[in-house]
Amino acid sequence: MTPFPRADYRSLTKYEPGRRPAEIDLSDNTNLWGPHPDALARIRAATADDVRCYPEVYADTLRAAVAERFEVAPECVTTGAGSDDILDSAFRAAAGPGAVVSFPAPTFVMASELAQVNGMRASAVPWADAMRDPTALLGDGVAVVYVCRPNNPTGALAPRAWMERLLDLAAGAGDSGPLVVLDEAYADFAGETLIGWAAERQRLLVVRTCSKAFGLAGLRCGFAVARPEVALEVEKSRGPYKVSRLTTETAAAAVRDRSGWTPRIVAECVENRRRLQDELAGRGMRALESWANFILFAAPSGSGADDAAALREAGVQVRPFRNIPDLGDALRVTVGPWPVLERFLAALDRRLAGIRVEGAR
Ligand code: PMP
Repeated sequence: MTPFPRADYRSLTKYEPGRRPAEIDLSDNTNLWGPHPDALARIRAATADDVRCYPEVYADTLRAAVAERFEVAPECVTTGAGSDDILDSAFRAAAGPGAVVSFPAPTFVMASELAQVNGMRASAVPWADAMRDPTALLGDGVAVVYVCRPNNPTGALAPRAWMERLLDLAAGAGDSGPLVVLDEAYADFAGETLIGWAAERQRLLVVRTCSKAFGLAGLRCGFAVARPEVALEVEKSRGPYKVSRLTTETAAAAVRDRSGWTPRIVAECVENRRRLQDELAGRGMRALESWANFILFAAPSGSGADDAAALREAGVQVRPFRNIPDLGDALRVTVGPWPVLERFLAALDRRLAGIRVEGAR
């Protein structure tokens, strides 16, 4: 008999993003312009069968839309209930308990969470060390190398040449080499993707979400592209019927983007990101350069938790982080339409004035 609960789950807790209702939520990098209108139209046209019937077993309508858009074969595409679900399945498909998931850190918190959920060990390699030499991410027992590009929460974009070197190293290790899981949740805002490499490279899975640029976080849908033999293993690990019938159709409409909505929204977001960078710099804030739809900047009081609480009092929720290299405590703010960011800047100014008063005491 094996004990319940399992020993390696003792240190696991349920995910707690620390969000509370706020007038303006700039904490989770969702799309503040709204959902993709083509997707919403499909939901509004829902029929009884969309709800009564089972979905396609492996979301083939969505796979076909992704294949057409990114010019790959449908066999190269896998899907999931959010990209978290795909990351989970990919880690599990790559190796069993005891194996290692390595990643340049800081990065998306779910990389280490999902490693632990799957009985794997997380190996966080300091970002600068990993960028200096990607071999730092490889080594004994490493079954998965997770890279988030652009990275959450810093917004950094690992250089293309660096990615190429990492993939060469992974492929060079032959059958015992790791699977490289490239999380492109924010790639639309970077203006570049490595999805084109996925069908060619042997050990690369490029993961996308419908939660950010498409504005469909509530639907829970993601997709990924890899060589057919890699996509198949992830499909097997994830299991059938994971993407609901309406979600399959709705996400496919967003991927097809017949109305051309996504590039328009992305262009506005990128412009607002530049304006917000300028506004932060004008207030003396230390902000990191970002290729995503958010900006990370040093917490003005030195305490991210205190600053986030004060901003929430003013009706604006941002996400605090601790111990970010070069920044220390930091705040991550989602880039949205400019009137929303003006509300954020007004709340920030109030906070800065409060800090000045406290400092003068
Ligand atoms: N990857 C990254 C880098 C993210 O920031 C997020 C969401 N915060 C996800 C994946 C998960 O997205 P989804 O809603 O598709 O599960």
